[in-house]
Amino acid sequence: MAKKTTGRSRSGVDSAGSGALATTDDRRPAALDWDYAPAPESAAIGRIRERYQMFSGGKFLEGNGPDLVSINPATEQSLATVSTASTGDVDDAVRAARSAYDRVWSTMSGAERGKYLFRIARGIAERARELAVVETLDNGKPIKESRDVDVPTASAHFFYHAGWADKLEHAGFGPRPRPLGVAGQVIPWNFPLLMAAWKIAPALAAGNTVVIKPAETTPLSILVLAEIIADADLPPGVVNILPGAGDIGAHLVTHPALDKVAFTGSTEVGRQIQRSLAGTGRKLTLELGGKAANIIFDDAPIDQAVEGIVNGIFFNQGHVCCAGSRLLVQESVAEEVIDKLTERISTLRLGDPMDKNTDIGAINSAAQLATITSLAQSGEDEGAQRWTAACPIPDHGYFFPPTVFTDVSQSMRIAREEIFGPVLSVLTFRTPDEAVAKANNTPYGLSAGVWTEKGSRILGMANALRAGVVWANTFNRFDPAAAFGGYKESGFGREGGRSGLAAYLDTDEGAA
Ligand code: NDP
Repeated sequence: MAKKTTGRSRSGVDSAGSGALATTDDRRPAALDWDYAPAPESAAIGRIRERYQMFSGGKFLEGNGPDLVSINPATEQSLATVSTASTGDVDDAVRAARSAYDRVWSTMSGAERGKYLFRIARGIAERARELAVVETLDNGKPIKESRDVDVPTASAHFFYHAGWADKLEHAGFGPRPRPLGVAGQVIPWNFPLLMAAWKIAPALAAGNTVVIKPAETTPLSILVLAEIIADADLPPGVVNILPGAGDIGAHLVTHPALDKVAFTGSTEVGRQIQRSLAGTGRKLTLELGGKAANIIFDDAPIDQAVEGIVNGIFFNQGHVCCAGSRLLVQESVAEEVIDKLTERISTLRLGDPMDKNTDIGAINSAAQLATITSLAQSGEDEGAQRWTAACPIPDHGYFFPPTVFTDVSQSMRIAREEIFGPVLSVLTFRTPDEAVAKANNTPYGLSAGVWTEKGSRILGMANALRAGVVWANTFNRFDPAAAFGGYKESGFGREGGRSGLAAYLDTDEGAA
């Protein structure tokens, strides 16, 4: 990417910004104070309206819950007012979903269902730029991430599952896999559109209908998805989208007329849901928190590993359930890795999420910023060494600079609790066994990363790590064909791939 001098007079660039080099005494050019020219995406592309309605029974309707105002976390300005559902609206939506299931969706051929999914996938792709802008304004994530990851992967999930819709009988689920019925789904704020796609696409492909609640702080992109779904002429009631607060989520997931519940969010809420569904016989999948270990062996390609560490913890401001938030480095290379890492982090650009050059955007809410700030403070209080990138913080909005803690012990809160922010805790190890023991020393078990050039070590570690996903010499890679999910307090059930479909099917015993 082209760089541009700013005309500031630090570090050898002349104050007129002409780019003329000053030289040091040994006649080498001094370091240039180069900066990126601002490259903001236009907010107008998002076509954000003043008011949004819920989508139920195939119609956009005013809900009977209190309005909510969605805030741009990078500016603290309000973006739009959103009508929310009441408990009565949830009941109506579940009824609409049941009727759509009985009348049309469960009896439609897989090939026909697949056509609708293809249309939705195409609709997302056609409105990709608009969706990326909406997501970035509403969530705070950098535009380059919503543009290059969230939106294309959401579309890919519909494409992938469209292909499954007419092949379920041949997928190893036995001769007659059947849909479950009506699914109640609740999603979080970290990947609003992508989580909607993860939940809706497999449910529809398998022949279920859906009532879904987005997070309070990020309702907008899924309501654009509702327009795409309406434009695809999906039969009314097959997908119902109900913005609302946690109490509406609680009413939805405990609704007695549901056949399946799928939740992504905090372990605490996941636990409550599991407790309230115990004994009902309803199928449940939970995708909860994580505290992933990213493990660097001394034979790893260090420069690539440093990129992987940065991607592992700073992607999406660290608001990622599978973030590599615990770095485990082999002692013999720890100094080199940390030096290179802090040097690399110092080049990250934090600021306006709408700027295409921004690496670290805004924290999604004031509440999440407070959580991150207090957990980082606990790291200092418990005796870890804190290093924070010296990047300027914007005057408005919720921002937290990339932060690395060293001298971390396993008992500290920053090594045990999900921070869900741009904060990395570094621990060291001497042997592979010690790395495994430390990596598994967590109540979570969602993901892990292994960096080494030895294939046998990768396979050995993947077997020994209690994590649903283990990345080797990479991190945070997502593909609709790959199953994703956790062990222990990270939840159960899988999303994506063939096993993700199984979570929405009633199969003959032992066949799946
Ligand atoms: P929550 O688990 O509270 O929120 C996730 C979703 O559940 C939201 O849609 C929320 O609605 C809804 N919800 C809240 N309470 C209930 C309930 N009793 N029954 C059903 N649904 C409910 O997460 P938070 O947003 O409060 O984040 C807290 C922490 O959780 C984070 O700091 C992070 O550590 C972790 N987290 C993990 C995620 C993951 O991907 N695994 C995602 C998000 C958070 P509403 O938004 O209206 O409250």
